[in-house]
Amino acid sequence: MPVPGELVFESPKRGKPPVHFLDLDQNGRKKAISDLGIPSFRADQVSRHIFEHLDKDPQDWTDVPVEDRLLIVDSLLPTLLSPVRSIECDNGETVKSLWRLHDGSLVESVLMRYPSRVTMCISSQAGCGMNCPFCATGQAGLTRNLSSSEIFGQVLAGAQSLARNQIAGGPGRVSNIVFMGMGEPLANYNAVMTAIHRIVDPSPSGLGISARGVTVSTVGLVPRIRQLASEGLPLTLAVSLHAPDNELRDTLVPVNTRWPVEEVLDSAWEYARVTNRRVSIEYALIRDINDQPERAHLLGELLKDQLVHVNLIPLNPTPGSKWTASRPEAEAAFVRILQEHGVAVTVRDTRGREIDGACGQLAALE
Ligand code: SAH
Repeated sequence: MPVPGELVFESPKRGKPPVHFLDLDQNGRKKAISDLGIPSFRADQVSRHIFEHLDKDPQDWTDVPVEDRLLIVDSLLPTLLSPVRSIECDNGETVKSLWRLHDGSLVESVLMRYPSRVTMCISSQAGCGMNCPFCATGQAGLTRNLSSSEIFGQVLAGAQSLARNQIAGGPGRVSNIVFMGMGEPLANYNAVMTAIHRIVDPSPSGLGISARGVTVSTVGLVPRIRQLASEGLPLTLAVSLHAPDNELRDTLVPVNTRWPVEEVLDSAWEYARVTNRRVSIEYALIRDINDQPERAHLLGELLKDQLVHVNLIPLNPTPGSKWTASRPEAEAAFVRILQEHGVAVTVRDTRGREIDGACGQLAALE
């Protein structure tokens, strides 16, 4: 029985969302507007309301005639993300949002406010097809790719809430984006790149967030890492390594059987060389699985003398998982050994854990 006041979605079809104004670049937006019989300069006005003023409500776009506004909203601004619920912790400075897409698929995003930055963790797919056994999203498999506007919409929603003083800590701006929510971003390459352009391009094309503040995290799809290196954008690349040896990595990150550790790291070093950006290596520390001193030494050998930084993530056990986080002594030893090899290393903070909003926990279970 539906709860009164709750939206009922009839037989959801898994499918492509409608095209949205923000899927288009400036020329595409002008064309779409003039196809509606509206002068194309309105595209620029609408873009500025969205990207510069972060005006959510078209009723406030008073420089656009009301009949044009209605037509634009009807034809080009379909609602792609409907809020289902949001949960807060850290006194409201961490907010996890659950969104329902047009076909009933569910995705999550997380906003994390720190003293000097606001980071948003966003999803690039509904579910994920990479099947990593320690990751909550991986357990349910892939539903579908998100469109660029479904991806970018998560950022825009956060930016609008911050601008309207709806997040604890006062009005603010999004400074960092991490593609560490649901999905494998490089398996949805084109939509992710379009979303990245909306994030980094200057107004009225995009939000103008620094590309250095945007991190694309991947299991290691080597051809796509090489393609990303050729985009001419100083994005941060994060590689989810989780094991220095193929035998173990084959089990933790199954796509390793296709692109093994050596090839993944080669493409990462090429990325660092081309972009001059330090690559981030993600390593979830799993008790007695990948946290032994031998593996720390092996990892140190692989990474030493490279433009690299290791992010150790204490494992967030997923429900029913046989694995758990490393003991504090093992974690400390792992850090020390990497440092002995001259490798920069930090241990990731676990913001959002209590609301299942931390790394690998986004599963959109309803
Ligand atoms: N598909 C991308 C982005 C996914 S999530 C990728 O794999 O990189 C971002 C990071 O969280 C990845 O490094 C992922 O391996 C890690 N992660 C997934 N599940 C986790 C868990 N249960 N505990 C800690 N980290 C986890």
